[in-house]
Amino acid sequence: MNLIMLGPPGGGKGTYSSRISENYGIPHIAMGDILRREVNEGSDLGKKVEEYMEKGELAPDELVNEVAKKRLSEPDCEAGFILDGYPRTLTQAKALDKVTDTDLVINLEISEEVIIERLANRRICKECGAIYNLKSMPPEEEGVCDECGGELYQREDDKPKVIRKRLGEYRKQSEPLIDYYREKNLVEDIVAQEERPIEEMMEEIYAAIKKAKPNKGS
Ligand code: AMP
Repeated sequence: MNLIMLGPPGGGKGTYSSRISENYGIPHIAMGDILRREVNEGSDLGKKVEEYMEKGELAPDELVNEVAKKRLSEPDCEAGFILDGYPRTLTQAKALDKVTDTDLVINLEISEEVIIERLANRRICKECGAIYNLKSMPPEEEGVCDECGGELYQREDDKPKVIRKRLGEYRKQSEPLIDYYREKNLVEDIVAQEERPIEEMMEEIYAAIKKAKPNKGS
């Protein structure tokens, strides 16, 4: 199953994608995580994308398309994958179409107020990448990961000023994507309100995956 998770920053793409990855045994490919790793390692690619990431702007399409193509050619993607944070522009979607088929696009719908609140409360483990929310999913011990004991931190771009910039970017660049996939009849909308239990949303997502037909060879 080749899956794409679309939705605004802070919409829960990472959380739902990692659940899907565990449930179906397919890799969770998070473009933001890949790029952050490159920045931390100080690689050539990291140096090229760093300034965009700090400002909350999208990195150039050519760079991320190359990263995606390389990652998707690895053997663990043969049985499928869940893409999170890629594609984010129409150009990226068209580049992806040249590399692989898409079976289903999960589109998370969520209000901006909820996103700003959620991102301001988001904390991430430095070691294993586990995601927490200080309000809805706090760690047992403040600042410490339940899974591995790693230190929790707040992403620079989760600070309110950068969040607003990222949301603006999302609306401008990514919403035409949803229309592109709608025309192909690949989109399943999932309403991600704060009060909905995550298990209920996961059931809805799994039902959509079951219904979608693998597009292999088409
Ligand atoms: P994320 O972790 O998905 O919120 O991504 C963090 C940042 O990485 C974004 O604000 C962009 O600067 C960059 N980024 C991630 N995915 C992409 C993409 N598909 N295209 C361009 N830039 C990206």
